[in-house]
Amino acid sequence: MPALRTDAVVLHVFDYLETSRIFRLATREAGIQSVLARGARRSKSRYGSALDLFASGTAEIYVKTGRDLHTLASFDVNRSRGVLAADLERFTAASAIAELATRFATGEAHTELYESLVATLDAIGEARASASVDAALCGAWQLVAQMGFAPTLEACASCHTLLADDVAASFSHRAGGVLCRRCASLAGASRVLPPEARATLRTWMRGALSSVADDLARRAHQRLLREFLSEHLADGRPLRAYDVWERNGWGAPNEAPR
Ligand SMILES: [Zn+2]
Repeated sequence: MPALRTDAVVLHVFDYLETSRIFRLATREAGIQSVLARGARRSKSRYGSALDLFASGTAEIYVKTGRDLHTLASFDVNRSRGVLAADLERFTAASAIAELATRFATGEAHTELYESLVATLDAIGEARASASVDAALCGAWQLVAQMGFAPTLEACASCHTLLADDVAASFSHRAGGVLCRRCASLAGASRVLPPEARATLRTWMRGALSSVADDLARRAHQRLLREFLSEHLADGRPLRAYDVWERNGWGAPNEAPR
């Protein structure tokens, strides 16, 4: 059985039986794949102790045709990303990104998506405090675009009239982007995007990091992305990691206002 050698990043880990682990990997060559790592929980595992959540490197996988679970032969870690687990803000942001990828990416090779994913995890790890939210938002919109759901932000999603950059624009999740005033009134209620929010989204879609002005705007961006995901990518199951990320930092729902 030939082994597949590919760049890969660990997006989910769970223990299996007494000594093994199952990893959900994003790979450069074969999209999202689940692999069984036999003996990975032993103290002297052949995979080494660095193989953990969000680590990336080169995986060697025995692919079983027609099966959902393959066998991990080896994994040479070149980045362990322990920094993501050391801080709750970064951890919840990285977990939301991992959830987005494992839930909606496919088992097909997608180099750009893989590279965005790895770059996003690095950006979250390097970001200071609340900037990790901005890095995750930027990465999430890029993943959305690479899955083929990029929202239109320059012209009306319905009639294609160009919209001026310096005006607030209605944003319709169902239409898949901004709407001109006429189409917005026909479409009924939708979110209004201030010009700064639209500029930030456009920057993120180009793959460049851009900081959000304050926590209020940050919250509005998280809400906008959540609504967009549930309109275009939802499979009926809740996005648990996304919910935790969105609530983290803003306090638990029942917490008294500060
Ligand atoms: Zn229009």
